[in-house]
Amino acid sequence: MRATTLLNRLLDLPGVTVSGASLEAGSLVVDVRLRARKLACPLCDHTTRAAYDTRRYLTWWRSLDFGAHTVFVRTGLRRLNCPQHGVRVQGVPFARHRAGFTRDFEDVTAFLATKTDKSTIARFLRIDWDTVGRICERVVATDLDRHRLEGLVNIGVDEVSWKKHHNYLTLVTDHDAGKVVWGRAGKDTATLDAFFDQIGPQKAGRIEAVSMDMGPAYAKSVRTPGHAPQATICYDPFHAVKIVSEALDVERRKAWNELRNGGNPEAAKKFKGARWALLKNPTDLDEGQAALLRKLKRRGGDVWRAYTLKEAFRAIFAGDLNPDQAGELIDRWISRASRSRLPAFVKAAKTIRKHREGILAALRLGINNARAEGLNSVVRLIFRRARGFHSPEAALALVMLTCGPITLQLPHEQPRIGTG
Ligand SMILES: [Zn+2]
Repeated sequence: MRATTLLNRLLDLPGVTVSGASLEAGSLVVDVRLRARKLACPLCDHTTRAAYDTRRYLTWWRSLDFGAHTVFVRTGLRRLNCPQHGVRVQGVPFARHRAGFTRDFEDVTAFLATKTDKSTIARFLRIDWDTVGRICERVVATDLDRHRLEGLVNIGVDEVSWKKHHNYLTLVTDHDAGKVVWGRAGKDTATLDAFFDQIGPQKAGRIEAVSMDMGPAYAKSVRTPGHAPQATICYDPFHAVKIVSEALDVERRKAWNELRNGGNPEAAKKFKGARWALLKNPTDLDEGQAALLRKLKRRGGDVWRAYTLKEAFRAIFAGDLNPDQAGELIDRWISRASRSRLPAFVKAAKTIRKHREGILAALRLGINNARAEGLNSVVRLIFRRARGFHSPEAALALVMLTCGPITLQLPHEQPRIGTG
């Protein structure tokens, strides 16, 4: 077998024939010819035999490594005049539009980005992190399920922080498919308005339930005429429990400050370490934390009362209570917290009372804690591994690759044409 034929089979790039190869500065450079006589618009299905001019644009794409050598594919591209998109350099079947990498290389990159951390990818693939971000954006743009916004019935809206200093993404989840289907930078009413603008009033009119946190921004957008005013708004119990946990943390900090300012720095120090003992579920505590909790119990006082209130609230959603039973317990909890003389809990009780119906709606419709907690922890994990993005679009692309309706396949898992 001739070397070029062999290379053709090994590379297995759709629509091309290898015409030559050379080793240039340690890289294997493979020259290819496009087999199609017609020129394809890179943005649509338009093809034509007529080139716009005689110029050739020598173009390079990085392909998957051969051993320790980087591999580049090279060919001369022509321009065409697309009736819709104007004069463009022709598209190629083996790479995405505007990509400096083959589709195979990008698929491998996107796969790794969902599985491992920034420095591993940069070292393994020899590309920088911003490039990884742009590759993820391109893969999402071409490979995400186009029908993901059809037939939405039960959806969830969540805000996640993708970077420190208040950089947020709003994510819309299809509860029935269990996938994130939409996202955008920001977390206010206008952010969610953009989602409804995109799906239009007809699809929005068929939405039956929207779960969210207790901030007013998303509810306002859902209630807007032409959006989904008919939908039941559900508040994730997860977010309700979070509000009560935050109230506990306020009381804990207050007690700590009192100890510190009252000239008892030793006790104050111990208290600071009590944060996780108090906030974690009792079943998740380690030995030290459990011992600390027992000490706090013996000590009693406001912090212990706050703790029992938090645990009582959490327990409402931990079991298999039906909405009526849960409603009764929530009411009892609200009156207990309102009378607690713990300012943070009086305030939390007000918030819970205001959102009572939405919390019960979430229980009734089976929109459970696992969902919101699960999404939050997955997103936190991938963002931690990524350690920063150059743009919200890149952060969103990684969320969609990981939690969206997309099937990432490595080159050997894809149906190949099998050239040669
Ligand atoms: Zn076109």
